[in-house]
Amino acid sequence: MNCPRCQKSTKVVNSRPLEGGRAVKRRRECLHCSQRFSTYERLSLGDFRVVKRNDSKELYARHKIEAGLRKALEKRPVTEAQFQKLLFDIEADVFSLGKEKISSEQIGRIVLDRLKKTDKVGYLRFASVYRNFRSPQAFAKEIERLEKVGARA
Ligand SMILES: [Zn+2]
Repeated sequence: MNCPRCQKSTKVVNSRPLEGGRAVKRRRECLHCSQRFSTYERLSLGDFRVVKRNDSKELYARHKIEAGLRKALEKRPVTEAQFQKLLFDIEADVFSLGKEKISSEQIGRIVLDRLKKTDKVGYLRFASVYRNFRSPQAFAKEIERLEKVGARA
């Protein structure tokens, strides 16, 4: 990693695990101008392709899942740490499928599965966008189903 100021080589002066060892923060120092800066290392799904409903493909984009999750969990009692863990778990599930491409439906199911265990309101919000409930009845049915699952747990 080169220095952002003078573009010369740098060295790592300190490494610190983050998110319970799921990411690493490295403190670096430029060998030339002594500028200090940080880099982060985390699991990359950059080569993943997502197949959309209309069969078009696009590169996996973490920020899209993150945006959908943020919307679903808006004003919900979920801490930033819980949110980051949720996002990580979802990506780990996607990654563990071991495929080079995945359908947007599969990703949606993974997100719903994880959300269900984290926040039921968030789950319903996400489901209402993802499943595109055709009627209020269909939505009510899903809530009913969810309550049954909750009762069993
Ligand atoms: Zn420098």
